[in-house]
Amino acid sequence: MKINFSKDNGLVPVIIQDNRTLQILMLGYMNEEAFEKTKREEIVTFFSRSKNRLWTKGEESGNFLTVKSIDIDCDQDTVLIKVIPKNVVCHTGSFSCFGGKSDKGFLYELEEKISQRINDKIEESYTYSLYQRGINKIAQKVGEEAVELVIEAKDNNDELFKNEAADLLYHFLILLKTKGFSLQNIEEILQTRNK
Ligand code: AMP
Ligand code: ZN
Ligand code: ZN
Ligand code: ZN
Repeated sequence: MKINFSKDNGLVPVIIQDNRTLQILMLGYMNEEAFEKTKREEIVTFFSRSKNRLWTKGEESGNFLTVKSIDIDCDQDTVLIKVIPKNVVCHTGSFSCFGGKSDKGFLYELEEKISQRINDKIEESYTYSLYQRGINKIAQKVGEEAVELVIEAKDNNDELFKNEAADLLYHFLILLKTKGFSLQNIEEILQTRNK
């Protein structure tokens, strides 16, 4: 897909979005050279209007943006890049230029962390130690957490209820991973049922 760089002095706006949570992280500009460099290196390079030169995000701070996907809008004059950010994105120290870290979408980040713990065989990790105990034990844990949630649902303690709900979701994610599935696979099923 060809981008139309001719509208704004050779620059197009580029929206940077977190690949896991879909949170909007920042907006920058690219000229053709910045765009080609970004595609080649899979690390985001903008054209900085204030510096008036190519600017690789993270060149001083080390907070690079690793490219996961690039999309172009309907009339080819705006770019959307999904990234995995290193540390924080904004130079103020805030996670996103539009504020702090969003908690919506965190399940996808947690899913990724669980996968990492298991793939990297982190011995000190509870996640990995449970994983090692095998599918029966993991499924049993999910059952136990579900029962605890049921018990708390009948009580009037909101904090305990919410904490058991969190326990259930966390163990559910480990079970999914162990079976070789992702949250997205389950969302797809829910979505087809919705049609
Ligand atoms: P960095 O590219 O993260 O090494 O930061 C280098 C410089 O770019 C900083 O000192 C800021 O002036 C500027 N900068 C960094 N991140 C942002 C951002 N998200 N939005 C605007 N300017 C930024
Ligand atoms: Zn457009
Ligand atoms: Zn900022
Ligand atoms: Zn529990």
